[in-house]
Amino acid sequence: MSPEELNPFKIAQKQFDEVATQLNLSKDICGIIREPLRELHFNIPVRMDDKSIKVFQGFRVQHNDARGPTKGGIRFALNETIDTVKALAMWMTWKCAVADIPLGGGKGGVVVDPATLSDNEKEKLCRGWIQQTYKNIGPLVDVPAPDIGTTPQMMGWMMDEYTKLKGEFYPGAVTGKPVDSGGSLGRTAATGFGVIVTVREALEYLDLDVKKCCASIMGFGNVSQYAATNFVKLGGKVIAVSYWNRNDKKSYTISKACGIDPYFLQSITDQYGAIDNKKAEANGYSIEDGNAWLSKEVDVLIPSAIEGVINRDTVKNISPKVRIIAEAANGPTTPEADIILKDNPNVFVIPDFLCNAGGVICSYFEGVQNNMNFYWSEEEVNQKLDQKMVNAFHRVFKMAKERKVYTRNAAYMVAIKSVAKAMKLRGWI
Ligand code: GLU
Repeated sequence: MSPEELNPFKIAQKQFDEVATQLNLSKDICGIIREPLRELHFNIPVRMDDKSIKVFQGFRVQHNDARGPTKGGIRFALNETIDTVKALAMWMTWKCAVADIPLGGGKGGVVVDPATLSDNEKEKLCRGWIQQTYKNIGPLVDVPAPDIGTTPQMMGWMMDEYTKLKGEFYPGAVTGKPVDSGGSLGRTAATGFGVIVTVREALEYLDLDVKKCCASIMGFGNVSQYAATNFVKLGGKVIAVSYWNRNDKKSYTISKACGIDPYFLQSITDQYGAIDNKKAEANGYSIEDGNAWLSKEVDVLIPSAIEGVINRDTVKNISPKVRIIAEAANGPTTPEADIILKDNPNVFVIPDFLCNAGGVICSYFEGVQNNMNFYWSEEEVNQKLDQKMVNAFHRVFKMAKERKVYTRNAAYMVAIKSVAKAMKLRGWI
């Protein structure tokens, strides 16, 4: 058997191709959409604390801007590659389209483990990233935001650097900033909040009572933490989360059969999502292998960290009890595993770019507030976010029912149709 294809860009193209065929999209449209419109590769020299100069590799990909300025996060990760960034940029195009926000898709990255940098080095790296890209980004061009390994503080430094280079105040040049520096209330929690809105809608469709439902979550970074707290607020029980321990270079699952307390776990978790095993154990939590989260007997499975975790080898470990897979991460399921999920009538998959659209929707709200210089209450943000997520969920769900297709394909259909229509109306094809 040939080795499973795990290149994320090839996966993104494969997913697109399958739906493009079903939609009878023309070769011209496919030719434009299968590749990003623009790709920036650059090097960022940083004077480190020990006075040496270290050069970091950076990327920004602008996949498609037919519906508006490109939008998407910047990842600081050691395993970042241009193909990962290209895939994520393409998924951002679909995410903004499915959420019906007037933006296109972009993504950025730096090959670095941010945990190895001091605050001073992080700030220089963020400012350096903007120095290399500022001519090609901006509120009307391409708006970066946080992603894995980047934080609101980093976005604040980036906005400041952009503003300094431009000589005018541009709060809307970068989103996901700290609240006291132009950020939006609700942005930090937005992705996890949105994930649980889609879970809530899926539970309702499946006629499942959340009070009788358990969830298991991969990861305990920003998205997982707020997915956990929001699932508990909804009335459900989370019995396991996992995390990556950079010291042991190993992942762990932290579980409690009677339900974890996400607020307690947050209190013993560092800024990179690493939980203190000893403190967890002392408080009655079991420490298991990092893969254990995936085989838990739960109703809702939430892969919420990285790409490719539900693959040919792991898909068989998913419990037959699972009814909903909420893809809070980008690209957690490989095409081979997806074929198996697609054919399983008991599992309802909430595809990634629908499930985790809450972050970019709130980023859009942040940009709107920045640009009009008028700010909303957290309640107003959450109410608007909830509505956008519900609308997106039901657009996809309607498409799935009407065309009798898998939910992932339905999400692609909604998104691709919208992007193709914008391209046509703009006279590109
Ligand atoms: N990085 C997040 C995502 O993948 C948010 C992007 C944004 O806010 O622009 O959706």
